[in-house]
Amino acid sequence: MPDYLDEVLDSLRDDTSGANADYIPELAEADPEPFGMALTTTLGRTYAAGDADTEFSIQSISKPFAYAAAIIDRGLDRVLDVVGVEPSGEAFNELSLEGETHRPKNPMINAGAITTHSLLVGAEAGQDERVDRALAFFSRLAGRDLRVDERVCASELASAHRNLALAYMLRTYGILDGDVPAVVEGYTRQCSILVSVRDLSVMAATLATGGIQPVTGERIMEPAVARHVMAVMAAAGMYDAAGDWLTRVGIPAKSGVAGGIVGVLPDRVGIGTFSPRLDSHGNSQRGRRAFERLSRDMGMHLFASD
Ligand code: GLU
Repeated sequence: MPDYLDEVLDSLRDDTSGANADYIPELAEADPEPFGMALTTTLGRTYAAGDADTEFSIQSISKPFAYAAAIIDRGLDRVLDVVGVEPSGEAFNELSLEGETHRPKNPMINAGAITTHSLLVGAEAGQDERVDRALAFFSRLAGRDLRVDERVCASELASAHRNLALAYMLRTYGILDGDVPAVVEGYTRQCSILVSVRDLSVMAATLATGGIQPVTGERIMEPAVARHVMAVMAAAGMYDAAGDWLTRVGIPAKSGVAGGIVGVLPDRVGIGTFSPRLDSHGNSQRGRRAFERLSRDMGMHLFASD
């Protein structure tokens, strides 16, 4: 297996197409070369290749995991009151609200993820409690203490006008309560948590088992929560390329603008890849191709019948 993973990385290393995300200065200036991949099975065995321990900011990959925490903290019905589960087909930073309810269409776009973050812990919680909840929850999923990259966070906050605008719109519709700048800052801190592909593969493997962290053995969420989160990842995880991804790769996944992708195959494996250059949909170029290879070579397409 390690040889196979090395071979996949080597076969894609020359692909330098795409570009780092440019709207967050710290990401624009990041080294575009690191390339890593890790797989963790539901039995807790990890296979890793390339830059498997290089840390990068989790960004949008935080969204499915924060969504799981919000469902645990507030119950699914409360979460569904304010965030839908429909693919938006639009860019991640569009407002994409449903017509009558004004709910953001899903928790994988920024409008839905900012709302999801605002639900963490409970109605009375403040910014620090929500961020601590995300950090502690992600750390349990990864099986080690994670931390926030303050430079990436400050860099994004300095130009967070669009997320602030989305959040103020949501406030006017009564979808989001409380102090809007504090919610956006907390959400940005959540996006700035540092992970490696090794962490991502273990976090995803916890979804694959139905909620048991396969290395520590801790039950972190109920199977119904993991199932719901994986289904929303399948429907809406890959920005405006979600349908293309589901048909071509067939692995529920979520990407982030720092260049990470997390994928989960229920009952089998969690996968993490990292390569910073993004394609025209905002998904990691080499990461997407690595997932395509794994899906094809290892029969990982969710809907494959052979
Ligand atoms: N923190 C980023 C934002 O809200 C995350 C975007 C992403 O990874 O897609 O713009």
